Amino acid sequence: MSSELIPGVLEVITGPMFSGKSEELIRRLKRARIARQRVVCFKPDIDLRYHRTSIASHSDQTHAATTVANVERLREALYPQLDDVEVIGVDEVQFFDAAIVPLAVELIALGKRVIMAGLDTTFAAEPFGAVPNLMAIADTVSKLSAVCMVCGAAAIHTQRLGQSQELVVVGAAGLYEARCRAHFHPFTDEHGSEQLELTPALDTPGES
Ligand code: ADP
Ligand code: MG
Repeated sequence: MSSELIPGVLEVITGPMFSGKSEELIRRLKRARIARQRVVCFKPDIDLRYHRTSIASHSDQTHAATTVANVERLREALYPQLDDVEVIGVDEVQFFDAAIVPLAVELIALGKRVIMAGLDTTFAAEPFGAVPNLMAIADTVSKLSAVCMVCGAAAIHTQRLGQSQELVVVGAAGLYEARCRAHFHPFTDEHGSEQLELTPALDTPGES
């Protein structure tokens, strides 16, 4: 009889800020633990909003997690304990570099259940980091919506409030809002003014 490993799975949980990605990740990890599976969770150290040793949702659900600087560090922290681990969670996966994709492929091949949660788009509504690639290779993709803070409709966008055009400004309430398509403005004034026209993509330096 074959002694081949049963292939693992990749589950991606995605959507805008406040859509419940972390809540859903935490829910799945807790259920796995109830089923007596051994669970580990990681997050990038860019997200220090709450705690270095846990992930947290905006609704104050938490789960133990190890904070790592990059994919290489994640690998170093994970591999020594890999034989004892069945389920691997990663939150804020959009902040990891492209090496997260081959790592996911490897873990799937080793029979692990890998659950990755992260933003699908940036505040400019562009694909965020490796998340689209992870979605492409996933067994399941749960695309969650938040509630639009202007009208209450389903929100697929993350609206940045304020002027900064840097890709990464970590924070939550007050800096970002969930918005539906109608109320999302890629570039906006300090208060997310609804007066602005939807601006077509601005010229990006270095591109023609
Ligand atoms: P994510 O990880 O996707 O940013 P979280 O799991 O941290 O989301 O938070 C989801 C929770 O945030 C919801 O259950 C709700 O309590 C709260 N919340 C705050 N603002 C919103 C919003 N605009 N839409 C939906 N949930 C919101
Ligand atoms: Mg989250």
